[in-house]
Amino acid sequence: MSARIVAVAMCTAWLLPACEFVNVHQLVEGGLKAGAAQLPVGPKEEIAYGGAVAVQVVARYGGLDKTPELVEYVNLVGEALAIHSPRPELPYHFAILNTDEVNAVSAPGGYVFITRGALKACRSEAELAGILAHEIAHIAAGHAVKILQNLKSKQALADSTGWKSQAVFGQIVDGFLDDYMTKGLPQDDEFEADRIGTAILARVGWAPDGLRSLLSRLASGRTAASKDRFYGTHPDTGARVSRIDALLPAYKDKDGVTLELRFRDRTAVLSKRVGHAH
Ligand SMILES: [Zn+2]
Repeated sequence: MSARIVAVAMCTAWLLPACEFVNVHQLVEGGLKAGAAQLPVGPKEEIAYGGAVAVQVVARYGGLDKTPELVEYVNLVGEALAIHSPRPELPYHFAILNTDEVNAVSAPGGYVFITRGALKACRSEAELAGILAHEIAHIAAGHAVKILQNLKSKQALADSTGWKSQAVFGQIVDGFLDDYMTKGLPQDDEFEADRIGTAILARVGWAPDGLRSLLSRLASGRTAASKDRFYGTHPDTGARVSRIDALLPAYKDKDGVTLELRFRDRTAVLSKRVGHAH
């Protein structure tokens, strides 16, 4: 347990300006050396782009909610999922976006964000784990990396001499944000993230229907929150619920836990305070 607590404490150290944790030049050069034909985005480079994207995600969502007990709880749940994910070796970071909009966002390389609104929408630890598992699944399946690879290839075609520069790195990050934050990922990637996320959830021991449970509540309350970016960047919530329903029989022998009481206890601060954490 103490190792886990230490890991959580270390995770909060990533909340620094981008320049503190990525050496852009080094990573762009490193990626270039990896090979020119398909312009792959290697793990180190993925983490560098992810760090730069994460900083922009935080800015676009109005900063972070740093309430210590919430940050610790989200990290404990997130880390437990991450070590059971298909890419446990990545340095995962979990943080809460300071908005009551309902959404969760991930950036390549292991950055996972949940909004305070989404935290408030959850009714159990299994639901919280479900929404985090969906984001971890996007990272594990390399969905965002595909966008980065396309952008990088286009950039190389447009400018064969200058694209190693930090400015070009910035252009790729901007292009990624425009694609990813406004249009979202292809529907098939979303369904795949639900499938992989549900598998991770079951593997750790939470109720396999945790994500489904949250999504079905969001689907029924859609009119109240329909302006949230979640609905613009994800497939129809009802369609996602139906697809997860088709997966659940495979987990019928898994008696996962939902932990409503622990969730209520650990997030009690949400109902006690009004307004922002800053
Ligand atoms: Zn998604």
